[in-house]
Amino acid sequence: MSRHHIDRALVASRIEDLSRIGRVGETGVTRTVYSPEWVTANDLLERWMIGAGLAVRRDAVGNLWGTLAGTDGGAAIVSGSHVDSQAPGGKYDGALGIIAALTAVEVLHEAYGAPRQTVEVVSLCEEEGSRFSSASFWGSRAILGLIKPEDVEGTRGYVDESIGDAMRAIGLDPDLIPTAKRDDIETFIEMHIEQGPILEAAELPVGIVTAITGYRHYVVEISGQANHAGAFPMAMRKDPMALAAQLITEVRANAIHMGAPAVTTVGRIQVQPNYPAIIPERVMFMIDARHPDPDQRMELYRRHEATLARAAETSGMTLTWRYNKDLPPRPCDPALVDLLDQVASDLDIPHQRMTSGAVHDTQRFGQIAKTAMIFVQSKDGRSHTPEEFTATEDAALGIEVLAEGLRRLAWGTNR
Ligand SMILES: [Zn+2]
Repeated sequence: MSRHHIDRALVASRIEDLSRIGRVGETGVTRTVYSPEWVTANDLLERWMIGAGLAVRRDAVGNLWGTLAGTDGGAAIVSGSHVDSQAPGGKYDGALGIIAALTAVEVLHEAYGAPRQTVEVVSLCEEEGSRFSSASFWGSRAILGLIKPEDVEGTRGYVDESIGDAMRAIGLDPDLIPTAKRDDIETFIEMHIEQGPILEAAELPVGIVTAITGYRHYVVEISGQANHAGAFPMAMRKDPMALAAQLITEVRANAIHMGAPAVTTVGRIQVQPNYPAIIPERVMFMIDARHPDPDQRMELYRRHEATLARAAETSGMTLTWRYNKDLPPRPCDPALVDLLDQVASDLDIPHQRMTSGAVHDTQRFGQIAKTAMIFVQSKDGRSHTPEEFTATEDAALGIEVLAEGLRRLAWGTNR
């Protein structure tokens, strides 16, 4: 099996060049959607795409597309990721997936000329929610036709602005958003950093993703009774903080007992009145609970709700819960997973199958296309921080898998 030559120095320099746009400190990047840095980054990607022989266009929300038209026409095979970052994030989250797609398609174009099936590289405009917390996959939602007219002014930033304001400020017309919708994407493959420690622990450069997790955010509220922290005996208290502490431990235990890849996190808590010498009146905390298997996910939620119901019955306090986010898991296309797994084996690139505990644009594309993801190793599992790091060699091996996968799909007869 001959392997595609992926120029390691070129991959490294592209990662560096892109990360210089919005650079924070030594290794961080802040590149929020529709910011001047975001504009400059897409301009650079556009130049690279043109240099690779791709026909470039931008859609109404600013997704940047580079197309290599297929001789057979038909629906497209798309690869890419998001160009926006956390504030600050690292150099690799999102950016590497675009560089990977561009580099893979460039190598294939040089080696084999025009593909049979159309191939596109995409720089998706928004995934991180780092400027507008509820923008929530703005770019891929536009491609799916899921942005409602009221979302344009209703999607508010961390500073007082709407996403419509931000679009208009860089010359995009929100009224045109419906024109970004696509119904001619057959396949979407995203390469991404793992953002977890699993591949590093297994000493593997590459993971083939079989499913992307589903998650739910529960909001739990406990009302007790505020009293003096010294004068009120322990046995007579209605202490919602003590109950919250117990429940946090119990929901964690539920996930641990179910076993990986079940995960549960309490990362947000609010206490009233939040003073050291007052037993609190009220505590609110949120439970983030995830599982990539639909049935196992519901089982995890059943256990969490049983834990909460038991506490509501026995604690003598008022405890309520609801959930405000509920995203189903998205299995990747089994045939596409098999293909990428076979490709990695044929190329002698060490790899394993795994699920994604983070959500990605791919999850959205799963509604309209066959999808798959390639993970590459994250050092210490770190991401969403300037500390995030992926070795160029691991990135290049992931790109090799992507390139050979795309070759078999779009250039080959394996369709
Ligand atoms: Zn990402």
